[in-house]
Order: sequence, then C-alpha cells, then structure tokens
Amino acid sequence: MVRTRAHMVAMSLHVAAPTICITEEEALNTYYSMTLYNPALARHISSVEVRLSHPIRHLLQKLQRILRHLSHIDTLIIQIPPISVPECRTLFGSIRFPNLILFSGGTLPHKGIHQFLLRNPGIQTLILKRCVGRSDCSCPTVPSLNISEISGPSTCIAPLICGSPLLRVTATYDRESDNHISLFASFALLSANITYLSLDFAAIPRDFDILKSIAAAAPFVMSLELIQKCASGELIYPWNDAVRWANDLRSLSYLTLFSLRTSASLIERVGHKADERRLIRRWSGDAMQFPPQLRAIDLWYRLYRKSEPGLASFWKRGRLGWQRASSTAISYRTL
Ligand SMILES: [Zn+2]
Repeated sequence: MVRTRAHMVAMSLHVAAPTICITEEEALNTYYSMTLYNPALARHISSVEVRLSHPIRHLLQKLQRILRHLSHIDTLIIQIPPISVPECRTLFGSIRFPNLILFSGGTLPHKGIHQFLLRNPGIQTLILKRCVGRSDCSCPTVPSLNISEISGPSTCIAPLICGSPLLRVTATYDRESDNHISLFASFALLSANITYLSLDFAAIPRDFDILKSIAAAAPFVMSLELIQKCASGELIYPWNDAVRWANDLRSLSYLTLFSLRTSASLIERVGHKADERRLIRRWSGDAMQFPPQLRAIDLWYRLYRKSEPGLASFWKRGRLGWQRASSTAISYRTL
C-alpha cells in the first residue's frame, strides 16, 4: 500500500477532535484518508463544519464519503460555494444521520436538501440561507420534522415547519417582492408557542400591518425583532400611524423585548435622549399601555446611509419608567 502524506497524517491522529472544521482542500483530503484507512477514528467526532470558499465540484464525492463515515454526528454545518440541485443530491446520497439535531446548509439549493430533510426528522435546529436559483425554489411541504428553531428565507422555510414544535423563527426577505404570508399561514397549523421572532419587513404598504399579523400568527411571542430591508422610492413605515402602531404593539401581550432596525430617522434630532423618550411614549399609547411585560426596547435606526453612522439605543423599563441604558453610533457595515 502506498502511504501518501495525507494517509500518514490521518494515521497519526490517535484521538480525533470531537469537532472537525474543514476549511481547505488539504484538510478535506486528510479527513478523506482518515475515513478510508481508519474509520474507527471517525466515531469520536460529533460535529462537522465544512467551510470552503473555492469551487468544490471535484471534491463532492470525497466529501460524501467523509459524511457517510460520520453518520453519527449531531451537528453538520456546510458553507460552500453554490452547487446545483443534482450535485447537492449527490453530496448527501442516501445518508442518514440518526443523531443529527443541528443542520446549517449555507447556500445549498433548498430543492436539493428536501430528501435529506425527510431522511433526518430528528433535526431540531435548521439554518438555511438564500438559495441560488431562488426563482424556481418551491420546497414541498415536509410534514414530519421536529424543528424547534429555524432560520431562512420566509417563503422557503414556510413549508418546512408544518407540525414542528417551533419556538424560534428567523425569517428573511431576499427580494422586495417577498412576504410572510405563507409563513404566517404555516404558524396557524402549529400547536407550538413561538416565543422568538426575527422578521425582515419592507417599508411599503404591504407590511403596514405587520404587528397585527404577528399578534394573530404568533400571539405568545416574547422577543420580537423587526429588520427593515433596503428599499427604494418613497418609504412608508408601519409606525407612520402612531396610534395604530401603539395599539398593535399593545396587542402583543407577552412581549418582553422589542427590537427594531430601520433606515428611518425616527426622531428629529437623531440620538437625542429626550426625542427618543418622546417616541417611546408615543408608541406606548396615551396612558403608557405597553404590554405590561415589555421591559426593553432596542432601536437601531437611520441605517443604510453609508455616509452617515446610525444609532443603536437600548431602553429599559424599571420602577422609574423608561430609561436609556446605552446609545452607540454604529456603521452600516455592522449589519
Ligand atoms: Zn429556497
């Protein structure tokens, strides 16, 4: 048998690390040799991260073999350059990961991971990003998953949560035409109590009622983050009607933390404490009727203007009412 350098490296690993992180082709070859010549070592590994920045089409077969020998892992994170749907299906083959509870698929095409998800219903945390070829991304409903935390494009993750005991959701917009309609419809089919929501929104009339929609779809939300996506033209913010905004905010009875990130200036004198307090009072309704549980408001505003810093202000409610805990200038790049 010819002993390659990678083989020697692999054979010298007496105790494999519980987590392996493959960031270079050489490392991938090393682990490939390890699984080839000493598969017993792979049993010690519980978590795998593959983070490669260069094209890996020529490495997919090797990567599949590595994954096949690591089928007992509980965490799998794959961050690689875009590959096609057939290539993605080739990558996972028919591998089952009985212990897998966290899967982060990076930019893997969502249509390509559908069968993978069906084979691995034990996944509890699912993290997806914008999928390439989004125009034809139509994930079929996956009814048998057990997801408690999910993150990804709103319309892509909506079919994946049916029947899941969902607690935490991060739903993003990739394009201005995106919306949360299908996601909120999926919430209605859940028996779970969603307590954390992070949602993109657009400063257009379609999202004017976003708080009202959240109150109907996820009435038990305790931590809510709204993030405005860049938009052009005349922007219409849901808090333009302060009375309605206050009423909708109050309808979120369990809310304890409210975070808002927006390009709007929100107040006349950006960063001015008295102006921020007036804004919070206006949003809280005439008699400070916030949800009684609401204890903190995190405002990130006047973002997206690259030439000017934005502001991050954190307000806490105590015995003396609302007090600003911190105020920090932030750059557009912070997002
Ligand atoms: Zn998708």
